[in-house]
Amino acid sequence: MEPTNHHHNSAAGYSSASSSPPPRRSICPNCTRPQLVCLCKFLPSPPIATKTQIIILQHPHEAQHKLSTTPILTKCLLNATTIVNRRLKPGLSDLLDRSPTAVYLFPPTPHSSPPINISELDLTSSSSSDSNLVLIAFDGTWKHAKEMVRSSEEFLSRFARRICLDFDESVDGGTIFDSELILRKEPHGGCVSTMEAVARCLRVMEADGAEIELRLIGVLREMVRLQAGFLKPMNPRPKLVKMKNKSEREDEIR
Ligand SMILES: [Zn+2]
Repeated sequence: MEPTNHHHNSAAGYSSASSSPPPRRSICPNCTRPQLVCLCKFLPSPPIATKTQIIILQHPHEAQHKLSTTPILTKCLLNATTIVNRRLKPGLSDLLDRSPTAVYLFPPTPHSSPPINISELDLTSSSSSDSNLVLIAFDGTWKHAKEMVRSSEEFLSRFARRICLDFDESVDGGTIFDSELILRKEPHGGCVSTMEAVARCLRVMEADGAEIELRLIGVLREMVRLQAGFLKPMNPRPKLVKMKNKSEREDEIR
């Protein structure tokens, strides 16, 4: 286990990495994936426009994660924004500071009030206002995401409702994409990558949601396919294997 950092010093620890990444290996400047698994030709161009505004709260540790799907997701969607922080609070987002009609996506936990299943979300209740719905998702390990939700709920409770994907509650069920889209599951069943979770939500929230979901899942499939091919080369060179073992074998798609 890595040590837990209780100080809120993410700016000092991480901003330099994102502004000037060390050129240890060739990284595509557009999709931020290693050149060998560059996803650019699969990304929608132009990015997909949605009525929904998507905000992803990304844990600082996740911002360092090579297989995070969040950078790809924000490339695919015109209206998706990432906030790197451990919690949501006033002052981080002009949009959230205006208390928009919002939902935040998180599975049920033992002591939480039961969330609304995404398929039961009554979108008509938000159409009374002119502003569009905001979807908030959390990107982190299960443990980090729980912490982020817990410490953000006081702020979120002013304007946002908690929702879950329908399959969150089945501990063993997982999703129909398990075999293809998740390299390794988190301790709890039903955990999906941030990108897949947002795609599932947009299916319900957008008028042409089914097509948007298909396009996002298509990009995710390519990401997993490229990564799987990269992790299991036909004739692995010793140096490459050693590097992969160190840096990415423990990774998983999130
Ligand atoms: Zn690229």
